[in-house]
Amino acid sequence: MNHKQMLKVFAVPVSAAFIMGIGHQVVLADETEQPIDATETVDTTTEQSTTMDQSPIQQQDVNASATVAPQQTSNVWIGQQGYASLEEAVKNSNDGDTITLGEGRFTLYNSPNIQSYTKGKSLTFIGQGIDKTYWGIGATVPDPSKFGTEYNGDYSFDGAKTVTFKDMTLQSKAKIDYLGFIRIDDTIVEDCKINGKTFYWGYKTAIFKNTTFDDTDTDYAIWTYSSPIMTFDGCTFHGAGKYINVYTDYSTGKENRTVNINNCTFITQKHNKSALNINDSNMGNYKYYVNFTGHNVTEGIQPHTLTCSRLFGFSNNKNNSGRLVVKMDGVPIWQDAKMVSHSIDTANDKYTDGYKDDAFDYTYGEWVKQEDGSFKRHVKRVCQYCGYAEEYDEIKAAPVKPTEDSKSQETPASKAPTTVNTMSKVTPNKVNAVKATTNDVDTSVQTNIGLSILGVFAGIAGILGYRKKNK
Ligand SMILES: [Zn+2]
Repeated sequence: MNHKQMLKVFAVPVSAAFIMGIGHQVVLADETEQPIDATETVDTTTEQSTTMDQSPIQQQDVNASATVAPQQTSNVWIGQQGYASLEEAVKNSNDGDTITLGEGRFTLYNSPNIQSYTKGKSLTFIGQGIDKTYWGIGATVPDPSKFGTEYNGDYSFDGAKTVTFKDMTLQSKAKIDYLGFIRIDDTIVEDCKINGKTFYWGYKTAIFKNTTFDDTDTDYAIWTYSSPIMTFDGCTFHGAGKYINVYTDYSTGKENRTVNINNCTFITQKHNKSALNINDSNMGNYKYYVNFTGHNVTEGIQPHTLTCSRLFGFSNNKNNSGRLVVKMDGVPIWQDAKMVSHSIDTANDKYTDGYKDDAFDYTYGEWVKQEDGSFKRHVKRVCQYCGYAEEYDEIKAAPVKPTEDSKSQETPASKAPTTVNTMSKVTPNKVNAVKATTNDVDTSVQTNIGLSILGVFAGIAGILGYRKKNK
């Protein structure tokens, strides 16, 4: 995200919330901010608090809300008690209640004074499944005059403790920044689908379990914006190249922030960003702590040229200011603005992706026989993803001394090393570009192949000898 030319102060209508001092004005606009379309119809008065026909991706659906059938039978329950609407159920709920939703579309957005019934409560909402129960977050048609602020957000749980959503699709208007639920302490989203981009989840913690983030067009699925601790467990992201934006201008530089990624999958047809796009430049004396655990999978994402990872990266170098610690299965892999090492094995994964994929261009020196009979050669390899170069010596053990029984089988080939070298991944064109200073590449390759062939002979001879001995 490039803020350089995006710093804007928005004129925010003086709402009651703002006067009361609970409003929070956001002054940074995202790069994806849409130009204000004067022809866009903004009519939030048609929002209904219960079974509105809401499809936030399609603005014209707002007007369709008038066609919703009246609640003839209960579609919302607390225990066995049915209610005429979600709003009625919430008004009658106690702290800790579970509210069950039937099929249909629900929202509490703009429900008059609903905050007074949710404040201080922990509530759980359980739907009938992601293709049956839909919950609209915030304005179906965001007001362009409030772009860049939180005021298109959803205040229906302002001051609530823990709010849990299960088995439903949560919908937010895509492409508009600063949407979500304003000022819930903790949020839990489990077995759900989330459509559109959201910024506001739990202001202490936000947990997403087995949840799919979808339909985000060209934009991010989510910002870690409001949540000091955000956890994604078993989640899947389908997107057009942007997933999690690890960034905030809210509460900037006042606390450490943690993002946990466990067993998640990031899928795209179009590479754009890493799974986590990080900007730690405004964290002051605090840091981001990003923890990858388990098996995290990406499809269609290119490795970041600096981090050499598909899982995390930066939009530009300025966003990598050293206020980030990344761990993989508990092992530090990135800190002080650089990788801890290019080759790290963790309990479930490897860092970097270059190391993981063995995506190196190799340059080999000649095998040199050592005093103890072993062979040594110098190897240089350069990562194709990030350009990281390293050099090391490779040793092959001395050939095993033939036993008495196998002496009759001995051939000249058996004097060659018995270890067949499998590191034959050489791309001559790229090797030449690597500036191999000490060795002639072509000679070393030929030597390598020759020794490998000798090694195969030696292996055959060894097998024959072994067979004879064991007859
Ligand atoms: Zn690399």
